[in-house]
Amino acid sequence: RALSRADRVQRETNAFITLCGEAALARARALDARLAAGEAPPPLAGVPVAVKDNLCTRGVRTTAGSRSLEHFVPPFDATVVARLEAAGAVVIGKTNLDEFGMGSTNEHSAFGPVRNPWDLERVPGGSSGGSAVAVAAGVVPLALGTDTGGSVRQPASFTGVLGFKPTYGVLSRSGVIAFASSLDQVGVFGRSARDLALALTAMAGPDPLDATSLEAPPLSADLGTGTELSGLRVGLIKELSGAGNSPEVREALGRTTAALRDLGAEVSEVSLPHAPYGTAAYYIVAPAEASSNLARFDGMVYSRRVGESRLGQGEVMRRSRGALFGPEVRRRILVGTYALSAGYYEAFYGKALKVRRLIADEVRRAFGRFDLLLTPTAPSPAYRLGEVADPLRMYLGDVDTVLANLVGCGAVSVPAPTPGLPCGVQFLAPPLEDARLLRVAGALE
Ligand code: GLN
Repeated sequence: RALSRADRVQRETNAFITLCGEAALARARALDARLAAGEAPPPLAGVPVAVKDNLCTRGVRTTAGSRSLEHFVPPFDATVVARLEAAGAVVIGKTNLDEFGMGSTNEHSAFGPVRNPWDLERVPGGSSGGSAVAVAAGVVPLALGTDTGGSVRQPASFTGVLGFKPTYGVLSRSGVIAFASSLDQVGVFGRSARDLALALTAMAGPDPLDATSLEAPPLSADLGTGTELSGLRVGLIKELSGAGNSPEVREALGRTTAALRDLGAEVSEVSLPHAPYGTAAYYIVAPAEASSNLARFDGMVYSRRVGESRLGQGEVMRRSRGALFGPEVRRRILVGTYALSAGYYEAFYGKALKVRRLIADEVRRAFGRFDLLLTPTAPSPAYRLGEVADPLRMYLGDVDTVLANLVGCGAVSVPAPTPGLPCGVQFLAPPLEDARLLRVAGALE
């Protein structure tokens, strides 16, 4: 049934790059047979899931939204995918994304833009827009994305679902096609905190294939009910909550603050003077790391090749990269290479790292006084297709989400009760306090 819903939603929204029809049915049947033989059902038995197409799936094409990987079929599964499947989940499709995760609108995919099911003339957000749509349109209850600077939380906000990025290291990055390794983290879309907890529990934990993976405290912690938020101290980040936001977003924040107070939480403002500089730091650090990570897609060992070998290695690399990377990816590689080059390194990359540290220190101090921090998820609801043609304008829309990636802490976007287009608010928790995010998300359901 999920597959036929996927077919219908695909025609309207282009949320998928590859649908796994036969393979998914075969998996579901094999699971049925095991259960019929008396095996105890695993926690996600038969749950259909969608997976962003920058997460490797064994035997299933994985493109990262790029022409350069159009025909890449990985011989292995990303650890998160293998663990979800071991828990009984069935991957029904690979979802559309901005090429290599670079973008906030899903218009930068080599496989065409994704449309928002709430209004087909609007974007679903990005870069994990396809996964957000798969959940928002009711194709699957759970989907995986990646979040380097907000790519799970911002599309969750634009499509009215939950989007969760745990603390850096909680989910293995093995088998994630790398964008910016110090910021990349796998994230989950869902409709309830309980579903998110089930998926996270199945996937979390150290992985010998990712040296930055961690042993995390249990995420299935009691989600509690309403009144249990009493005494929870929530700090509303002043610099991100004011005039730069659209009226819908301010309304969403206001309603959430009121709901939190009704549930017994204490909400007050906290000032993080460097928070607004997060975007500038992110748009140096992320492209710098991307320029290094993407160097492997040169048409030699990895990625498609354009041009015959008699042209020589340099020329073939130049042609392959020029023809197979989209404009946003080329822009990032140029910015990143420039920021890392001799003579500019200290002025750009070095300075961005200092700002990253200042922000992390400010956030750490704020967590001394607050259990959670609160911001909008994005400064506006979903843009119209084609509305943000200027890359700088697109980058500025990431001001709220990049904070958690720069710091490495967990964050969740929770849909706010709004009359018009969906609009989320974001909570940040101290490192490894991810269960607290699930608790607040559950209480606000
Ligand atoms: N929108 C941000 C960017 O373009 C974040 C992307 C992401 O989290 N993958 O870099």
